[in-house]
Amino acid sequence: MKLGAIEAGGTKFVCGIGNEHGEITDRVSFPTTTPEETMGQVIQYFKEKDVEAIGIGSFGPVDLNKSSSTYGYITTTPKPHWNQYPVLGELKKHVNVPMGFDTDVNAAALGEAEWGAARGLSSCVYVTIGTGIGAGALVEGKLLHGLLHPEMGHILIKRHPEDSFAGKCPYHHECLEGMAAGPAIEQRWGKKGYELEQNDKVWEFQAYYLAQAVTNFIYILSPEKIILGGGVMKQQQLFPLIRNKVSQMLNGYVQKQELASGLDDYIVPPGLGDNAGLSGALVLAKRELQQQ
Ligand code: ADP
Ligand code: ZN
Repeated sequence: MKLGAIEAGGTKFVCGIGNEHGEITDRVSFPTTTPEETMGQVIQYFKEKDVEAIGIGSFGPVDLNKSSSTYGYITTTPKPHWNQYPVLGELKKHVNVPMGFDTDVNAAALGEAEWGAARGLSSCVYVTIGTGIGAGALVEGKLLHGLLHPEMGHILIKRHPEDSFAGKCPYHHECLEGMAAGPAIEQRWGKKGYELEQNDKVWEFQAYYLAQAVTNFIYILSPEKIILGGGVMKQQQLFPLIRNKVSQMLNGYVQKQELASGLDDYIVPPGLGDNAGLSGALVLAKRELQQQ
Protein backbone atom coordinates (compact mmCIF):
# COMPACT_ATOMS: atom_id res chain seq x y z
CA MET A 1 0.00 0.00 0.00
CA LYS A 2 1.15 3.54 -0.68
CA LEU A 3 -0.10 5.59 2.23
CA GLY A 4 0.05 9.26 3.12
CA ALA A 5 0.50 10.59 6.65
CA ILE A 6 0.11 14.03 8.18
CA GLU A 7 1.09 15.13 11.65
CA ALA A 8 -0.67 18.47 11.90
CA GLY A 9 0.94 20.44 14.70
CA GLY A 10 0.60 23.98 15.96
CA THR A 11 4.24 24.67 15.01
CA LYS A 12 4.61 22.59 11.87
CA PHE A 13 2.79 20.16 9.62
CA VAL A 14 4.86 17.05 8.93
CA CYS A 15 3.79 15.12 5.83
CA GLY A 16 5.08 11.76 4.73
CA ILE A 17 4.66 8.76 2.51
CA GLY A 18 4.90 5.22 3.81
CA ASN A 19 3.43 1.75 3.69
CA GLU A 20 1.41 -0.67 5.82
CA HIS A 21 4.60 -1.90 7.52
CA GLY A 22 5.43 1.53 8.89
CA GLU A 23 8.28 2.18 6.49
CA ILE A 24 8.47 5.91 5.82
CA THR A 25 10.00 6.71 2.45
CA ASP A 26 9.50 10.46 2.31
CA ARG A 27 9.08 13.15 4.97
CA VAL A 28 8.72 16.92 4.64
CA SER A 29 7.59 19.66 6.95
CA PHE A 30 5.81 22.98 6.51
CA PRO A 31 5.55 25.70 9.17
CA THR A 32 2.04 26.26 10.55
CA THR A 33 1.14 29.77 9.41
CA THR A 34 -2.30 30.39 7.92
CA PRO A 35 -4.54 27.54 6.73
CA GLU A 36 -4.35 28.92 3.16
CA GLU A 37 -0.57 28.83 3.09
CA THR A 38 0.10 25.68 5.12
CA MET A 39 -2.73 23.60 3.67
CA GLY A 40 -1.80 24.87 0.22
CA GLN A 41 1.63 23.28 0.66
CA VAL A 42 0.16 20.06 2.08
CA ILE A 43 -2.28 19.75 -0.82
CA GLN A 44 0.43 20.46 -3.36
CA TYR A 45 2.59 17.75 -1.76
CA PHE A 46 -0.08 15.05 -1.87
CA LYS A 47 -1.49 15.98 -5.28
CA GLU A 48 1.52 14.49 -7.02
CA LYS A 49 2.00 11.48 -4.77
CA ASP A 50 -0.88 9.21 -5.80
CA VAL A 51 -1.46 7.69 -2.35
CA GLU A 52 -4.27 5.20 -1.68
CA ALA A 53 -5.31 6.73 1.64
CA ILE A 54 -4.20 9.44 4.06
CA GLY A 55 -4.13 9.49 7.86
CA ILE A 56 -4.15 12.76 9.78
CA GLY A 57 -3.20 13.24 13.41
CA SER A 58 -4.07 16.81 14.28
CA PHE A 59 -3.62 19.37 17.03
CA GLY A 60 -6.93 20.27 18.56
CA PRO A 61 -9.45 20.39 19.87
CA VAL A 62 -10.86 18.51 16.89
CA ASP A 63 -14.25 17.04 16.04
CA LEU A 64 -13.89 13.25 15.76
CA ASN A 65 -17.58 12.43 15.60
CA LYS A 66 -18.26 11.06 12.11
CA SER A 67 -21.95 11.93 12.28
CA SER A 68 -21.31 15.56 13.21
CA SER A 69 -21.59 18.37 10.65
CA THR A 70 -18.18 19.60 11.77
CA TYR A 71 -16.42 16.21 11.64
CA GLY A 72 -12.78 16.72 10.69
CA TYR A 73 -12.67 20.32 11.91
CA ILE A 74 -10.11 21.88 14.19
CA THR A 75 -12.65 23.51 16.50
CA THR A 76 -12.08 25.86 19.43
CA THR A 77 -8.33 26.37 19.20
CA PRO A 78 -7.00 29.72 20.40
CA LYS A 79 -4.47 29.51 17.55
CA PRO A 80 -5.11 32.46 15.22
CA HIS A 81 -6.73 31.57 11.85
CA TRP A 82 -7.36 27.90 12.72
CA ASN A 83 -10.53 28.23 14.80
CA GLN A 84 -13.37 26.14 13.24
CA TYR A 85 -11.19 25.13 10.32
CA PRO A 86 -12.21 22.06 8.24
CA VAL A 87 -8.77 20.51 7.87
CA LEU A 88 -10.05 17.13 6.66
CA GLY A 89 -12.66 18.61 4.29
CA GLU A 90 -10.21 20.99 2.68
CA LEU A 91 -7.77 18.19 1.93
CA LYS A 92 -10.54 15.93 0.66
CA LYS A 93 -11.63 18.61 -1.85
CA HIS A 94 -8.27 18.33 -3.56
CA VAL A 95 -7.12 14.77 -2.88
CA ASN A 96 -10.13 12.47 -2.88
CA VAL A 97 -8.93 9.30 -1.16
CA PRO A 98 -10.08 7.59 2.08
CA MET A 99 -8.87 9.53 5.10
CA GLY A 100 -8.47 8.61 8.75
CA PHE A 101 -8.57 11.39 11.30
CA ASP A 102 -7.70 11.60 14.99
CA THR A 103 -5.81 13.74 17.47
CA ASP A 104 -2.03 14.03 17.10
CA VAL A 105 -1.48 12.26 20.41
CA ASN A 106 -3.97 9.47 19.73
CA ALA A 107 -2.16 8.90 16.43
CA ALA A 108 1.18 8.73 18.26
CA ALA A 109 -0.25 6.23 20.77
CA LEU A 110 -1.51 4.13 17.86
CA GLY A 111 1.85 4.26 16.06
CA GLU A 112 3.69 3.22 19.21
CA ALA A 113 1.26 0.32 19.75
CA GLU A 114 1.70 -0.89 16.18
CA TRP A 115 5.45 -0.52 15.70
CA GLY A 116 7.01 1.15 18.73
CA ALA A 117 7.43 0.89 22.48
CA ALA A 118 3.93 -0.50 23.06
CA ARG A 119 4.10 -3.00 20.20
CA GLY A 120 1.74 -5.92 20.72
CA LEU A 121 -0.08 -4.28 23.64
CA SER A 122 -3.76 -3.38 23.52
CA SER A 123 -3.38 -0.34 25.77
CA CYS A 124 -0.97 2.54 26.22
CA VAL A 125 -0.86 6.25 26.93
CA TYR A 126 1.29 8.58 24.83
CA VAL A 127 2.06 11.94 26.42
CA THR A 128 3.76 14.78 24.60
CA ILE A 129 5.44 17.48 26.64
CA GLY A 130 6.29 20.24 24.20
CA THR A 131 4.77 23.63 23.40
CA GLY A 132 1.69 22.20 25.07
CA ILE A 133 0.96 18.98 26.90
CA GLY A 134 -1.41 16.41 25.47
CA ALA A 135 -1.98 12.72 25.79
CA GLY A 136 -3.63 10.04 23.69
CA ALA A 137 -4.88 6.71 24.93
CA LEU A 138 -5.34 3.31 23.39
CA VAL A 139 -7.81 1.34 25.52
CA GLU A 140 -8.66 -2.30 24.71
CA GLY A 141 -7.25 -1.76 21.22
CA LYS A 142 -9.32 1.34 20.49
CA LEU A 143 -8.37 4.99 20.57
CA LEU A 144 -10.28 6.76 23.29
CA HIS A 145 -12.63 9.54 22.10
CA GLY A 146 -15.67 9.77 24.35
CA LEU A 147 -17.51 13.09 24.53
CA LEU A 148 -14.82 15.14 22.75
CA HIS A 149 -11.49 13.39 23.21
CA PRO A 150 -9.30 13.27 26.29
CA GLU A 151 -7.56 16.53 27.20
CA MET A 152 -5.15 15.04 29.68
CA GLY A 153 -2.70 17.92 29.47
CA HIS A 154 -5.12 20.09 31.40
CA ILE A 155 -5.55 17.92 34.49
CA LEU A 156 -5.29 19.66 37.83
CA ILE A 157 -2.20 18.94 39.84
CA LYS A 158 -0.72 19.75 43.23
CA ARG A 159 1.74 22.64 43.25
CA HIS A 160 5.34 21.97 44.33
CA PRO A 161 5.75 23.63 47.76
CA GLU A 162 8.72 25.70 46.52
CA ASP A 163 7.18 26.74 43.20
CA SER A 164 5.62 30.21 43.07
CA PHE A 165 5.11 30.35 39.29
CA ALA A 166 1.57 31.53 38.48
CA GLY A 167 1.06 29.09 35.63
CA LYS A 168 0.64 29.74 31.93
CA CYS A 169 -2.57 28.05 30.75
CA PRO A 170 -5.00 30.70 29.44
CA TYR A 171 -7.94 28.62 30.74
CA HIS A 172 -6.72 27.16 34.06
CA HIS A 173 -3.44 28.93 34.84
CA GLU A 174 -1.90 26.19 37.00
CA CYS A 175 -3.02 22.98 35.28
CA LEU A 176 -0.38 20.45 34.14
CA GLU A 177 0.24 22.26 30.84
CA GLY A 178 0.28 25.63 32.58
CA MET A 179 2.99 24.45 34.96
CA ALA A 180 5.06 21.96 32.97
CA ALA A 181 4.96 22.58 29.20
CA GLY A 182 8.01 24.08 27.47
CA PRO A 183 6.73 27.71 27.57
CA ALA A 184 6.03 27.40 31.34
CA ILE A 185 9.62 26.27 31.95
CA GLU A 186 10.89 29.16 29.84
CA GLN A 187 8.81 31.78 31.62
CA ARG A 188 9.45 30.45 35.13
CA TRP A 189 13.23 30.28 34.75
CA GLY A 190 13.83 32.94 32.11
CA LYS A 191 15.68 30.52 29.82
CA LYS A 192 14.77 27.80 27.35
CA GLY A 193 14.62 24.20 28.58
CA TYR A 194 17.76 23.08 26.80
CA GLU A 195 19.75 25.88 28.46
CA LEU A 196 18.72 24.67 31.92
CA GLU A 197 20.14 21.17 31.74
CA GLN A 198 22.47 21.71 34.74
CA ASN A 199 19.82 23.26 37.01
CA ASP A 200 18.52 20.38 39.16
CA LYS A 201 15.64 22.37 40.58
CA VAL A 202 14.11 22.73 37.12
CA TRP A 203 13.92 18.98 36.61
CA GLU A 204 12.84 18.33 40.20
CA PHE A 205 9.76 20.54 39.63
CA GLN A 206 9.21 19.05 36.20
CA ALA A 207 9.38 15.47 37.47
CA TYR A 208 7.07 16.30 40.37
CA TYR A 209 4.35 17.51 37.99
CA LEU A 210 4.79 14.84 35.34
CA ALA A 211 4.87 12.06 37.95
CA GLN A 212 1.52 13.22 39.31
CA ALA A 213 0.10 13.09 35.79
CA VAL A 214 1.52 9.64 35.11
CA THR A 215 0.24 8.34 38.46
CA ASN A 216 -3.25 9.61 37.70
CA PHE A 217 -3.18 8.10 34.21
CA ILE A 218 -2.19 4.74 35.75
CA TYR A 219 -5.08 4.88 38.18
CA ILE A 220 -7.66 6.03 35.65
CA LEU A 221 -6.75 4.16 32.46
CA SER A 222 -4.57 1.29 33.71
CA PRO A 223 -2.36 1.38 30.59
CA GLU A 224 0.19 -1.36 29.94
CA LYS A 225 2.79 1.22 28.89
CA ILE A 226 3.31 4.95 29.30
CA ILE A 227 5.31 6.73 26.63
CA LEU A 228 6.65 10.21 27.22
CA GLY A 229 7.65 12.23 24.15
CA GLY A 230 7.91 15.83 22.95
CA GLY A 231 10.71 18.38 23.07
CA VAL A 232 10.96 18.67 26.85
CA MET A 233 11.51 14.91 27.22
CA LYS A 234 14.74 15.30 25.22
CA GLN A 235 16.06 15.93 28.73
CA GLN A 236 16.72 12.25 29.33
CA GLN A 237 17.54 12.80 33.01
CA LEU A 238 13.81 13.30 33.55
CA PHE A 239 13.02 9.62 33.05
CA PRO A 240 14.66 8.25 36.23
CA LEU A 241 13.37 11.24 38.22
CA ILE A 242 9.81 10.66 37.05
CA ARG A 243 10.02 6.87 37.60
CA ASN A 244 11.22 7.38 41.19
CA LYS A 245 8.48 9.83 42.00
CA VAL A 246 5.77 7.67 40.41
CA SER A 247 6.97 4.76 42.52
CA GLN A 248 6.74 6.91 45.64
CA MET A 249 3.30 8.22 44.71
CA LEU A 250 1.91 4.75 43.91
CA ASN A 251 3.39 3.58 47.21
CA GLY A 252 2.90 -0.08 46.41
CA TYR A 253 -0.82 0.21 45.88
CA VAL A 254 -0.91 -1.28 42.37
CA GLN A 255 0.75 -4.70 42.54
CA LYS A 256 1.78 -5.72 39.04
CA GLN A 257 5.01 -7.15 37.70
CA GLU A 258 5.21 -4.35 35.10
CA LEU A 259 5.40 -1.76 37.86
CA ALA A 260 7.93 -3.66 39.95
CA SER A 261 11.48 -3.23 38.68
CA GLY A 262 11.96 0.52 38.86
CA LEU A 263 9.45 1.20 36.08
CA ASP A 264 12.32 1.16 33.56
CA ASP A 265 10.26 -0.73 30.99
CA TYR A 266 6.99 0.92 31.89
CA ILE A 267 7.64 4.66 31.58
CA VAL A 268 9.64 4.97 28.39
CA PRO A 269 10.55 7.31 25.52
CA PRO A 270 8.88 6.74 22.13
CA GLY A 271 10.23 3.64 20.39
CA LEU A 272 9.68 5.43 17.08
CA GLY A 273 11.43 8.62 18.22
CA ASP A 274 10.17 11.70 16.41
CA ASN A 275 8.22 9.52 13.95
CA ALA A 276 5.58 8.30 16.43
CA GLY A 277 2.91 10.72 15.18
CA LEU A 278 3.64 10.24 11.50
CA SER A 279 3.71 6.44 11.90
CA GLY A 280 0.41 6.56 13.74
CA ALA A 281 -1.06 8.56 10.89
CA LEU A 282 0.01 5.75 8.56
CA VAL A 283 -1.95 3.31 10.73
CA LEU A 284 -4.98 5.62 10.56
CA ALA A 285 -4.68 5.60 6.76
CA LYS A 286 -4.27 1.83 6.64
CA ARG A 287 -7.30 1.26 8.89
CA GLU A 288 -9.44 3.61 6.82
CA LEU A 289 -8.49 1.83 3.60
CA GLN A 290 -9.23 -1.57 5.12
CA GLN A 291 -12.64 -0.38 6.29
CA GLN A 292 -13.67 0.75 2.82
P1 ADP B 1 5.67 21.10 19.50
O1 ADP B 1 5.11 20.80 20.84
O2 ADP B 1 5.52 22.52 19.10
O3 ADP B 1 5.21 20.15 18.44
P2 ADP B 1 8.20 20.13 20.56
O4 ADP B 1 7.66 18.83 21.01
O5 ADP B 1 9.56 20.15 19.95
O6 ADP B 1 7.25 20.88 19.54
O7 ADP B 1 8.22 21.08 21.85
C1 ADP B 1 8.76 22.34 21.84
C2 ADP B 1 9.02 22.76 23.27
O8 ADP B 1 9.98 21.89 23.86
C3 ADP B 1 9.61 24.17 23.39
O9 ADP B 1 9.01 24.83 24.49
C4 ADP B 1 11.09 23.93 23.64
O10 ADP B 1 11.68 24.93 24.42
C5 ADP B 1 11.09 22.60 24.35
N1 ADP B 1 12.31 21.84 24.04
C6 ADP B 1 12.72 21.46 22.81
N2 ADP B 1 13.90 20.81 22.88
C7 ADP B 1 14.23 20.77 24.19
C8 ADP B 1 15.34 20.24 24.92
N3 ADP B 1 16.35 19.62 24.31
N4 ADP B 1 15.34 20.38 26.26
C9 ADP B 1 14.32 21.02 26.89
N5 ADP B 1 13.27 21.55 26.26
C10 ADP B 1 13.22 21.43 24.93
ZN1 ZN C 1 -5.12 24.16 31.19
